[in-house]
Amino acid sequence: MRNFVYDHPATRVIFGVGALDRLQEEVKRLGARRAIVLSTPEQRADAEEAMRRLGDMAAGLFTEAVMHVPIETARAARDMARELGADCYVAVGGGSTTGLGKAIALETGMPILAVPTTYAGSEMTPIYGITEGGLKKTGRDRRVLPRTVLYDPTLTVSLPAHISGPSGMNAIAHCVEGLYAEDANPIMTLLAAEGVRALTRSLPIVVREPGNLEARSDALYGAWLAGSVLGAVGMAIHHKLCHVLGGTFNLPHADTHTVVLPHAVAFNREAAPEAMRIAAEALGAKDAARGIYDLIKRIGAPIALKDIGMPEDGLDRAAKLATENPYYNPRKVEYGEVRELLENAYRGTRP
Ligand code: NAD
Repeated sequence: MRNFVYDHPATRVIFGVGALDRLQEEVKRLGARRAIVLSTPEQRADAEEAMRRLGDMAAGLFTEAVMHVPIETARAARDMARELGADCYVAVGGGSTTGLGKAIALETGMPILAVPTTYAGSEMTPIYGITEGGLKKTGRDRRVLPRTVLYDPTLTVSLPAHISGPSGMNAIAHCVEGLYAEDANPIMTLLAAEGVRALTRSLPIVVREPGNLEARSDALYGAWLAGSVLGAVGMAIHHKLCHVLGGTFNLPHADTHTVVLPHAVAFNREAAPEAMRIAAEALGAKDAARGIYDLIKRIGAPIALKDIGMPEDGLDRAAKLATENPYYNPRKVEYGEVRELLENAYRGTRP
């Protein structure tokens, strides 16, 4: 028998090559007239292109977005938006830029229009993160959910292979944990399986031929589905471990997700058989954990924590931090087993 709660998400999505052409029209549709464009310094050219598309509705440009959303950056962007009389944010970039828009929207309630250029999926979630005094605070709030998302695969062509692969694995992680989420529901299970299928078939092509627009479109489609899953259902041990490793040891976000995922899935193998069956089928593999591990190798993404900056003497601390507060996971989370999981991830052994 099925029992579930399904809360319908409220984001308008425009998907396809040329979606950015609709920027001005979509800003108007939000009832806004003056948009401030946000980006990282590296993506200034993309932000300037968005400014051109906005025409007389472009209020200004803020290109100081960085990882982990420092509160000082969010305040600077908010103040600039106020001075310019902006009434809407256009976030052009990955999770860091969308995250900046969210931090400001949390305070101001101003609408965000997101133009994602990675596969992180933040644009589809009401989850925000802000770093103050070295501590990253995260939470969920409907106010930060972008009202409109323009997915234009053309903008992802410039994402280098070494970022595209891990970013895509980050999206697969949202899907897989969505399959065994405490509040999983039939709609999100369908989305998660389709997300894994799309990313599994497209990522090997994307890293081999970054300019292949067909594969880029397929990967972005998978990332949209993955972001929708992340926004709708709770995550488990994999996301918890990555949060600890990123926050405490400053490991790179998408690379950490890539390395940890096969081991987190192997950890839950017996506790979530139906989720494993669906994931394995979508991966075209006999076993979900091994299928993920083999996909990572195929796309040339990192496979071991030791290769992405994790100190070996930090494993005990990471296992302790990841087990000191209770949270949902299909299998009981205990220090010894988590320490072993981390050891395997550190060495990069096949699960
Ligand atoms: P990112 O946004 O930090 O981008 C990584 C780098 O790639 C940046 O220098 C960026 O400018 C560059 N880049 C992005 N798109 C590009 C493109 N198309 N071409 C060339 N360069 C490009 O990385 P990310 O992995 O997208 O986001 C990671 C952050 O997002 C983390 O802080 C993570 O916690 C957060 N996140 C939040 C959520 C959420 O729901 N709140 C979900 C996923 C990730």
